[in-house]
Amino acid sequence: MNCIFCKIVKGEIPSYKIYENSRILAFLDIAPVNKGHALIIPKDHYENIYDIPENLLKEMISAVKKISMAIKKSVDADGISIAQSNESSAGQVVPHLHFHIMPRFRNDGLKLWPQGSYDEGEMQEYMDKIKREVQ
Ligand code: 5GP
Ligand code: ZN
Repeated sequence: MNCIFCKIVKGEIPSYKIYENSRILAFLDIAPVNKGHALIIPKDHYENIYDIPENLLKEMISAVKKISMAIKKSVDADGISIAQSNESSAGQVVPHLHFHIMPRFRNDGLKLWPQGSYDEGEMQEYMDKIKREVQ
């Protein structure tokens, strides 16, 4: 499979690994939002959050916490942002599930996405629509 992160797992592309176990790998993002920005991936190829088995996802979230704390401490960050995109329309460029762990600093100038608003009655409508699908 021509997946860049699978190649990183296999060592076919070099990476700066900060943590790994038999199922999970974390390494530095080549184009950091701030220095120390890391990616955490499952070693097996799952494209996105819809595909990954629940148990592995739980293990990944625990690792995200562990690595977040390590990054915060090691680069003396003021905060940590975590991001994970699914499908290209959501901004996913590499189709191998990954969490971004980004150290943040007061006045680093980074902004979250722009926010909008609801028309009258729309919040109720969206709440109903989404609630119906939550199992
Ligand atoms: P996405 O936009 O899919 O959420 O994030 C993909 C991330 O992978 C980007 O932040 C990008 O900088 C990073 N990336 C892409 N190719 C490589 C690579 O070959 N090595 C490393 N370390 N990071 C990569
Ligand atoms: Zn892959």
